[in-house]
Amino acid sequence: MANEVRDREVLRAVVQAQVERTPALDVHTHIYSSAFGPLLLRGPEELLTYHYLQAETNRVLAEHSPAAFMALPKAEQARLVWRTLFVERSPLSEAGRGVITALHRLGVASVRDYAAALARFAGLSAGEHVDLVLRAANVGGVVMTNDPLNPAERAVWEQGGARDARFRAALRIDPILVDWPAAAPRLFELGYAVERDLPEASYPEIARFLRDWAARMQPAYLAASLPPTFAMPSDTACGRILTRAVLPVCRELALPFAMMIGVKKRIMPELGDGGDGVGRADLDAVEHLCRSYPANLFLLTVLARENQHQAVVLARKFKNLHLFGCWWFNNNPSIVEEITRERIEMLGTSFTPQHSDARVLDQLVYKWAHARRVIAAVLVEKYSLLIDEGWYPAEEEITRDVALLMGGEFERFLAQH
Ligand SMILES: [Zn+2]
Repeated sequence: MANEVRDREVLRAVVQAQVERTPALDVHTHIYSSAFGPLLLRGPEELLTYHYLQAETNRVLAEHSPAAFMALPKAEQARLVWRTLFVERSPLSEAGRGVITALHRLGVASVRDYAAALARFAGLSAGEHVDLVLRAANVGGVVMTNDPLNPAERAVWEQGGARDARFRAALRIDPILVDWPAAAPRLFELGYAVERDLPEASYPEIARFLRDWAARMQPAYLAASLPPTFAMPSDTACGRILTRAVLPVCRELALPFAMMIGVKKRIMPELGDGGDGVGRADLDAVEHLCRSYPANLFLLTVLARENQHQAVVLARKFKNLHLFGCWWFNNNPSIVEEITRERIEMLGTSFTPQHSDARVLDQLVYKWAHARRVIAAVLVEKYSLLIDEGWYPAEEEITRDVALLMGGEFERFLAQH
């Protein structure tokens, strides 16, 4: 075959170049297009007050209680994080390293100079900032997280939504599934005749709400973040709403339902978003859903490292299940490498190795730079093992395989039905 790669050094160079060059589709983020105004977080102060760094700073702060630290105005809190984690200590943690990667690759001349970092971004419009970051991260498109029950966000959708084809929507439905007593009156206020105790007539109304918002957002999928106690089948509000409203609407619209399983909310409430923990889930719930609803498509990522192996085994069995990303506490190079290797060994290229989960625009740069390094290293290892046995990959084949991993396989999964 033309362009066969036989040499290890050539292999390394070809794989690294291809992984760098292929634009990523980021299948789950919390960033927004510029049409969403202040909902789009960007710049050094947002980077430094990311909840990962709030949690790491809080650990070593002597002079502030967690609540007092979290109550500081953003600019002051950012300066304190910088002093604590970047001046008094070295930024060796993944989140600390991430800030440096982002600042460096976005053109801050001296990454030890916080004032220079602030100055670098001071004059940028949201549109310019988005273009700069997507180019530096080599990200071709992102999937947002869109909550129609958030009034600020709903207002933007009612005026036309994202208006930027690089930003795709995901209809997030956590409150409906995990806190129905609180969600019910909010749906009612929006004109849907639902009741808290879920009489029969409520399910078609929940389905109508989902259909209306799917029509408005044109989402890539519906999604929910679920606790480690998530169980199916289950005669709870969650189980009934899922099987009687959510899954039927997903089937009707040929949209996947994305499950992010394993977050234990607010184990340290004073830390806000940084106060969530992890719990081991029972993925028999996923097995039940994939087997009982073969006409539904499911996306899955799990938070507990202990659940990763079972998740891969399930994805081997069920073609209506697609694994994506190394989520949150898994998004550390050592664990990303382990999970990516485990997935390639059991799934080949039929999964999506990474998503950024970025909450701040600039984070796309570091999350993808760090992910690409690990993905390339694992691919080099796997192709090398084939070369040892006389199977030589062609450059075109490497290009094809990398494209599948960087979003091509995700698109293929979405396009089914
Ligand atoms: Zn997320």
